Amino acid sequence: MPPIRTSTRTRKPPPEGFDEIEDTLLEFQNSMKDAENASHEGKKRYETTWPIFQIVHQRSRYIYDLYYEKEAISKTLYDWLLKNGYADAMLIAKWKKQGYEKLCCLRCIQTKETNFKSTCICRVPKDTLKEGKDIQCVSCGCRGCASGD
Ligand SMILES: [Zn+2]
Ligand SMILES: [Zn+2]
Repeated sequence: MPPIRTSTRTRKPPPEGFDEIEDTLLEFQNSMKDAENASHEGKKRYETTWPIFQIVHQRSRYIYDLYYEKEAISKTLYDWLLKNGYADAMLIAKWKKQGYEKLCCLRCIQTKETNFKSTCICRVPKDTLKEGKDIQCVSCGCRGCASGD
């Protein structure tokens, strides 16, 4: 009698088209692991989470582009990816709104969590800031994600 397969094997296979993007998704997964395991030495506590936020952002953007910009994946696959946590549906919902096309992460528009009692510094268009001012937000390390930048 052949050995019984583990329960993970009985899961429904991903929709068609997944094979074509699987390698890229794996790369994101690997860089996320690297970021999680990276040395925290010499870094401020909040800085260690920045790379993870950035990868989550990149991966969501990748899937967003595939579906909305390049129309390279089906609705079925897109929905499946969202449902399985490959992209942040809440963040993508924001990107569809004018002025939020480049939003880095949801924390930056949750006013309560910032130190500025308003939206995060990274949401302020660069030309309204003092010239040469280096901005980098504490939540995710974003250096500016206003639509005009
Ligand atoms: Zn930002
Ligand atoms: Zn920010």
